[in-house]
Amino acid sequence: MTAALDIILLEPHALRLQAMLAKDEGAESAAYMRFGVAQIQADPWDGGPRTRLVSHGFVEIEDLEKISASPVHVTWSTRGYMRLLSEAAAEHFVPGIVHTHPGSFAFFSRQDDLNEAELARTAAVKGAQGLVSIILGGDGTVRARMWRPDGSPIDACAVQAVGGRFRRWPEAEVADVGGSHLERQARLFGLGFNPLIRRLKVAVVGCGGTGSAVAMLLARLGVGHVLLVDNDIIEETNLNRVHGSRRADAKAGALKIDVIEREIMAADLGVRVAKRKGWVNDPAMRDALKACDFVFGCTDDHSGRIILNRLAYFYGIPVIDVGLRMAAAENAGHDVNGRVSTLSPGRPCLLCGGVVRPQRASEEALERTDPGEFERRKREAYVIGAGDPAPAVVTFTTEMACVAVNEMIAAVTGFHGEGGMVSNRLRRFHAGDDRFLAAKQNEDCQVCSTNRFWGRADIDPFLDLVG
Ligand SMILES: [Zn+2]
Ligand SMILES: [Zn+2]
Repeated sequence: MTAALDIILLEPHALRLQAMLAKDEGAESAAYMRFGVAQIQADPWDGGPRTRLVSHGFVEIEDLEKISASPVHVTWSTRGYMRLLSEAAAEHFVPGIVHTHPGSFAFFSRQDDLNEAELARTAAVKGAQGLVSIILGGDGTVRARMWRPDGSPIDACAVQAVGGRFRRWPEAEVADVGGSHLERQARLFGLGFNPLIRRLKVAVVGCGGTGSAVAMLLARLGVGHVLLVDNDIIEETNLNRVHGSRRADAKAGALKIDVIEREIMAADLGVRVAKRKGWVNDPAMRDALKACDFVFGCTDDHSGRIILNRLAYFYGIPVIDVGLRMAAAENAGHDVNGRVSTLSPGRPCLLCGGVVRPQRASEEALERTDPGEFERRKREAYVIGAGDPAPAVVTFTTEMACVAVNEMIAAVTGFHGEGGMVSNRLRRFHAGDDRFLAAKQNEDCQVCSTNRFWGRADIDPFLDLVG
């Protein structure tokens, strides 16, 4: 475990924490939690290692275990705690304790220091990788730290509640937003908006028509850290929609990630760009993705979407996935659809939404690793293949990029509803309306219908994907 630590509370767990504050008429209350561990070897922007803990489960302390509780203290029997520690050792998660300070802001009291040191010693003896402690203040503030097995505590540099909404503690310093160019949006969203956005680390996976527009919008919006992931070069046929691309780039065979980086840097808005050339399926991408706060899925391949789909649930990183489908109908006008889906634990995944087709995903993998075999099977009609290039029009791809980035803004501000991000929006350009598809969680969906993988973070194999 490194010295840099941040903690993600999944929305279903964060809601239960909030409910703890509301009950017991102002008395302190307590609960146990389980955390998955994400070890980030090198942050794509500062290069430093980081440990990120993701809430994996929530265990309320039963009333009969509670010995006493008042507005300034809570004590409980250690029976449940010992059970938590044995499970943590067997299932490789980090145990956590959480308690409320209903009458004040969140801080660690002297009594907390003493109690936790004792509990942490017990955890270390029982073989736990550490002990997380979270305090909820009555004013809505949150503080967290982790006791390492050697008995030393480290404070979390950030705690974020993540789901339809995105909230982060401590709230960012208002002072530094790197210039006054963002002043107009602070007039709408308040002084806290720009510093929060500045600290965000956001990946754009796929830098084509929608991805290039998303990246440019993020830079204008003042997102401080943008990660570009793509394997392709600019081709002549991309010039109709990839923002920032020039004819000279197509002639030179420039990489899409290089072109977009160049344009963002030329604008000189204080945005730090990291980039990775490759496919999102490549194991070399994992570490960088794990370090992000939001991921935009702007790829049109199914195997990439399968990875991002799981990432959202395993690591508690909201994924905003964009797709377009358009066709010229012969007699009956056009069929032009844009979709934005937002993924996080508690919401239906892309498999349940019918967006990802596993068969196409394995074909794509074959095409990449063994093109000869892929062509042979295609000739013999064993694989469907991608067919002709899909139509693409810059106004539609760019508009859906705006819809996607607006969902991130909605997560941070709640501007289109307290629930934040819309789960599934289908924009029917030909009909001039938006439909909100209530995709249902498939009962036997391995990814989203059980909480088995929620916040599980690092496991072997990665994302529990075999082969
Ligand atoms: Zn306390
Ligand atoms: Zn699902």
